[in-house]
Amino acid sequence: MQKGGRKRGCAEGEGNPMGTRGRESRARPAGVSGAWRGGVTLTLGMTIFAKILSGQIPCHKVYEDAHVLAFLDINPLSPGHTLVIPKEAKATVGELSDDSAAAIGRVLPRLCRAIGRAVGATDYNILQNNGAGAHQVVMHVHFHIIPKMADGRGLGIRWEAGKLGAEEAAGLVKAIGAGW
Ligand code: 5GP
Repeated sequence: MQKGGRKRGCAEGEGNPMGTRGRESRARPAGVSGAWRGGVTLTLGMTIFAKILSGQIPCHKVYEDAHVLAFLDINPLSPGHTLVIPKEAKATVGELSDDSAAAIGRVLPRLCRAIGRAVGATDYNILQNNGAGAHQVVMHVHFHIIPKMADGRGLGIRWEAGKLGAEEAAGLVKAIGAGW
């Protein structure tokens, strides 16, 4: 998993630091500074996905274009669990440029179809977390495409629904419109 000579973009091949957590064999070599994670030095301010984009960390690439990269999640909830990321380094969807957002929107349906066909699933979830409080761990925008398998593998959801009153709805619509 060392870096030497890897070309820009995501390389095919072995797993990555998330998959090697807890192993003792990847001790930080003497003289290496920065956060040491499974054999890769994380430069301050750089996310693990930025390292994947730059080719410093390998991944199993599913798709790439000028604005978007998609690769298999290293800890999948189901077969084909894929992460779709913009090349633009932003933490949350609300920070994305229109170009990045449009590029992701353009390929998501195609990726969903191709992944579903590949793993034999017609059902799937798209999950997109923004902020640590909303379960985001890697602070680079990413969309999870998670096939829902017939045997139940996939995303489990706890959905505690409330009630929406007319007055509250009117207030929300007004506030959202004002923030546009
Ligand atoms: P989040 O909770 O931020 O929405 O999800 C981050 C996802 O990124 C997790 O599902 C995790 O398994 C995945 N992940 C984290 N690090 C890596 C990595 O280095 N390579 C790959 N392929 N996936 C990763």
